[in-house]
Amino acid sequence: MARAVAGPEIERLVQLLARVPGLGPRSARRAALQLIKKRESLMAPLAGAMEEVLGKIGTCPVCGNLDVRSPCLVCSDPTRDPTLIIVVADVSDLWALERSGAMNARYHVLGGTLSPLDGIGPDDLNIASLIGRVRDGGVAEVLLALPATVDGQTTAHFVTELLRETGVKVTRLAHGVPVGGELDYLDEGTLAAAIRARTTL
Ligand code: ZN
Repeated sequence: MARAVAGPEIERLVQLLARVPGLGPRSARRAALQLIKKRESLMAPLAGAMEEVLGKIGTCPVCGNLDVRSPCLVCSDPTRDPTLIIVVADVSDLWALERSGAMNARYHVLGGTLSPLDGIGPDDLNIASLIGRVRDGGVAEVLLALPATVDGQTTAHFVTELLRETGVKVTRLAHGVPVGGELDYLDEGTLAAAIRARTTL
């Protein structure tokens, strides 16, 4: 076993960094070393930025996005089309769709997908608040941008049935989104094409 080259404080920094998605133990060690070398220009601002976000971050009461303001930046943007709500499973999907730049809409984050095997039912997701938003009026279309997994499609079907009585137009992403694919991993062009070619349910 290799002997430690630095004290437990630095080891702890490395171990925490290694938990960041995309970083493994080796990259975490490199990142830690860079942070330490650039402690004035990088580590201090990073620590400050993290502390600032940590103190203010919360879930938007309207759409479920994560932001330091409430309602979130997306919900409080008057230039967005209020008649279109894009429904996503996770905040990462919202961010991915925004990167595609294809739509100028509002969102609704369900916080997951229905999964009977994992005991995740309708009450565990932000479904009731979505129906409430549509019932409040002013929404012409709900675009279901849910994963092409069994659970994602079960969720899409369930939400579609609930929305039927409201008379709102319900659409979903066009195929081209790979089966089992997570939106976060799609490139912007594929996402934009799937949105443009969306189909009515
Ligand atoms: Zn919001």
